[in-house]
Amino acid sequence: MATEVSIQHCPVYKKDLVFEAIDQLLKTLGGIETYVNKGQTVLLKPNMLSAKSPDMGVTTHPFVLEALINQIKKVGGEVWIGDSPSGVWKGIQRYWKNTGFLNLADRTGAKLVNFEADGTVERQVAGRKYHLAKTVFDADVVINVPKMKTHGLTLYTGAVKNLYGTLPGFQKAKYHKEFPNPTDFSQVLLDIYECVQPALTIMDAITAMEGNGPATGDLKDVGLLLASTDGVALDTVANAIMGFKQNEVPTTRLAGERGLGENNPQKILIKGVPLLEAAVNDFNLPSTHLLNYFPKFLVKWVGRFIWVRPSVYTEKCTGCGVCSDCCPVDAIEMKNRVPVTDYDQCINCLCCNESCPEGAVYQKMSWLARRFI
Ligand code: SF4
Ligand code: SF4
Repeated sequence: MATEVSIQHCPVYKKDLVFEAIDQLLKTLGGIETYVNKGQTVLLKPNMLSAKSPDMGVTTHPFVLEALINQIKKVGGEVWIGDSPSGVWKGIQRYWKNTGFLNLADRTGAKLVNFEADGTVERQVAGRKYHLAKTVFDADVVINVPKMKTHGLTLYTGAVKNLYGTLPGFQKAKYHKEFPNPTDFSQVLLDIYECVQPALTIMDAITAMEGNGPATGDLKDVGLLLASTDGVALDTVANAIMGFKQNEVPTTRLAGERGLGENNPQKILIKGVPLLEAAVNDFNLPSTHLLNYFPKFLVKWVGRFIWVRPSVYTEKCTGCGVCSDCCPVDAIEMKNRVPVTDYDQCINCLCCNESCPEGAVYQKMSWLARRFI
């Protein structure tokens, strides 16, 4: 049987519209009862990258989670919500509060789980050792709820990349440091995807992020929700909707090579909205994607003048030092409460961009890169 990806229209974050679209989405995949039985615990793993309000488009919208909670409760399931963002050691409360998840938990009875305090379980994949949030394995069912966004390092973040947040604490920085190359880092992401194995992935693509995501890109109204039991197939379809070439996104390409899911669009059965109708023709991809098209001889010749790297909007910066503390290679030094980056050290992991509570770290392109792109 062909792998199925379901797509539904949902133009705005209006509660009744989101509820209706999620209902349709699940019905095309057999209904929530296919995945959740009475009395089971279900972990929802949203994208809680930054402590930002839902209208900033950085995190999974609470209405999408609420629609799922509503479905799960109808069949007698109990809901947990958990994630571990990179700046979490400063306290998870502000993430829960600002993203609207605290309020969501209050009105639905869902339980917010702090991965940092809930213990870990060791797993090994391809000789690499991970300590994943124990909650992931305590739950009977895991539903992955990513957001459709671009990413300066991995080009795209969706089903596979979203599960990186099941690694609590400083491990996330450690793997960035050990595997700075996007291809190698994508293998790490796939290791984690392989360990977690969510039963279902539901993607919030009502408002997506284009340009230089995942924290400070531009918002894009895509008006879609996607679902599949195969997160790789879902990413394959999302990549096509955004305008990436087949196999351009490393996680999606490598997932196929590792047999972790379907990444051949010809073998994916689309239910609901046809792909041609769903595709966004003017989706703005990240600058790093454009650098891939730079003539190789030119990169060799003038490579050090062609770059995209993190930079700080000084007027937004409060001097809190979170970026410096999160940098896996200690490339940021706080001088008189001003972050100063050593670009010879920087591995372009974007942890500073993701963790800055003020959205003050953006991705800057060199003059030459801007001239050519
Ligand atoms: S750039 Fe952001 S994280 Fe870094 S010191 Fe300024 S406000 Fe804090
Ligand atoms: S400066 Fe930012 S992008 Fe560079 S290594 Fe540090 S956290 Fe990563």
